[in-house]
Amino acid sequence: MTRGANLAMAEREIPFYQPLGEECALFEHAYRRRLPLLLKGPTGCGKTRFVTHMAARLGRACYTVACHDDLTAADLTGRYLLRGGDTVWVDGPLTRAVREGAICYLDEVVEARKDVTVVLHPLTDDRRVLPLERTGELLEASEGFMLVVSYNPGYQNILKNLKPSTRQRFLALEFGFPPPELETAIVARESGLAKERCAALVRLAHRLRELKEQDLEEGVSTRLLVYCATLISAGVSPDFAVRTALIEPLTDDPDVKAGLLEVVRAAY
Ligand code: ADP
Repeated sequence: MTRGANLAMAEREIPFYQPLGEECALFEHAYRRRLPLLLKGPTGCGKTRFVTHMAARLGRACYTVACHDDLTAADLTGRYLLRGGDTVWVDGPLTRAVREGAICYLDEVVEARKDVTVVLHPLTDDRRVLPLERTGELLEASEGFMLVVSYNPGYQNILKNLKPSTRQRFLALEFGFPPPELETAIVARESGLAKERCAALVRLAHRLRELKEQDLEEGVSTRLLVYCATLISAGVSPDFAVRTALIEPLTDDPDVKAGLLEVVRAAY
């Protein structure tokens, strides 16, 4: 294969990620220095894409786990399962990443049950070990293993928060929505819609985000903007696309909806 073809293939396999600052270099330093990383930021602002992009760039597999309030340590580490009359141990995604030297990304880690922190602590200091209570193994993390977790500070409540003893084990990067010109480039690239039309959607998103503090739990995300532009690019009328991608997903409250629609009428 020619060098050009090799390069083209590598580019195809690395998911597109538009950097917003020095986060790619920081990730690489953390990876090389074996330091765990915490990503903070609202939903749909590019955290997952960032991790999958960096994993591909570094040539590591990436195991992503969307944490939820029933997720236990065993869901991450593994469990014994019955298979054709035999009891066999099956590694969970964290154990697989530790053994193979992959990147493990725990999305919304604060949602998980408390016992999850017990397995994360020995992995996030210089021991880099994962104790598997059930099998009696103490796994040493392979060379390329890296732990990345994320959480959304906007959803925090007193019951669900990362304890200082956990969060102070991680480097932390804050993510926000990209500045308009970069967000336009992202939306255009992801949806195939012309740049100037994406720029108008991004301007609208900024107006809608201004309402966030008053009535909405969360402002319209880059993800929703990509959805909206994708619909328009596929031929859906802009009005309907805006309603289904930028208004309805944000709220059920009729008054808030009417307020959002007013912003749309004035700004788009
Ligand atoms: P999060 O993990 O923060 O909830 P995602 O990483 O899933 O958000 O991002 C949602 C979508 O937004 C992605 O699928 C991608 O289309 C787009 N996106 C957001 N930020 C970026 C970025 N910086 N570069 C490329 N795509 C992005």
